[in-house]
Amino acid sequence: MIGRPRPAVSALPAYRPGRSAEMAEREHDITDAIKLASNELPFGPLPSVTAAIAAAAAETHLYADHRAEALRAELATRNGVAADQVMVGAGSVGLLQQLALTYLDPGDRVLFGWPSFEAYPVFAALVGAEVVRVPLVDHTNDLAAHADAIDDRTKLVMIANPNNPTGTAVGLGDVATLLDRVPPDCLVVLDEAYREFVTMESLGDPMPLLAEHPNLIILRTFSKAHGLASLRVGYGFAHPEVVTEIDKTLVPFIVNGVGQAAALASLAARDEMGDRVHQVVLERSRVIARLAELGHEVPDAQANFVWLPNGEEAAPLAERLERAGVVTRGFAGAGVRVTISTPEHNDRFLAALSS
Ligand SMILES: *Cc1c(COP(=O)(O)O)cnc(C)c1O
Repeated sequence: MIGRPRPAVSALPAYRPGRSAEMAEREHDITDAIKLASNELPFGPLPSVTAAIAAAAAETHLYADHRAEALRAELATRNGVAADQVMVGAGSVGLLQQLALTYLDPGDRVLFGWPSFEAYPVFAALVGAEVVRVPLVDHTNDLAAHADAIDDRTKLVMIANPNNPTGTAVGLGDVATLLDRVPPDCLVVLDEAYREFVTMESLGDPMPLLAEHPNLIILRTFSKAHGLASLRVGYGFAHPEVVTEIDKTLVPFIVNGVGQAAALASLAARDEMGDRVHQVVLERSRVIARLAELGHEVPDAQANFVWLPNGEEAAPLAERLERAGVVTRGFAGAGVRVTISTPEHNDRFLAALSS
């Protein structure tokens, strides 16, 4: 062992990103593989966003605004909160890491449904915190069980809504009931990375809950519906005191200038962004209908992916799809998550599944 890595870190497995199409092509000696593994938008940046990126590219010799003040102000205006209630970070994953650094000591507890986003246990492990996994019910977060499982060591409750990898969402009523039961010194993090794709009406708008519940944090991102995953811009809303604490752990200048400019341009192009999200939502319905015809019942899909909860069949199915040039995300023993893409790519998946 070179140096003396912290035991919490040396015990962690290396981070494994989703497999790329190129990896699949090399490994299986195939061409034309497609990646439906990371819930990316299948469209490149909008013309106005590309123009903003090009303009910002001319400024890359300068550090960007560390706090992304212009972006915070715009997000505040559009969401009806004060600018000091807005946080911006290196993707919402960057903000999740900041949350762990800000609030968790060894022995503290962080609680979430399971299966859920794989980053949650990793960031907890990084700081030596304990995780409490609350089983999903019908592939859905069971917020009453979350509330029952909270004890005085629980400092963070994470809710991915919609949940990744199962795609289901919980309604605003359930979130409000949970908040009424959570002690005020325990933070509730509502991770709405896929909010824009939700069609379920009961999702509601959690923003008004911030006024009553200073322990609520709402996280969102430009990576999914806005199609800016590579630029790493995530944001969130919370009480100003929470924002002040979290900002102390923001790596200096990590939210880069190209990303800030692209995020602002993407907010200005909200209608076009909405059209693209709508295309994905229409494709989601089509894919689900076809899956049903093929005998695959999937949980209510509210994000830009579908979940095939096929247990022990998951790993072999993901392998078979990959050999056919369709890279998905298999969770061994649990299921396969497949990103909704263009009609052509979705047809490739459906054909590979039924062949
Ligand atoms: C994709 C995803 C994120 C967003 O990650 P970024 O760091 O913003 O790219 C956050 N939460 C969940 C549950 C996700 O699936």
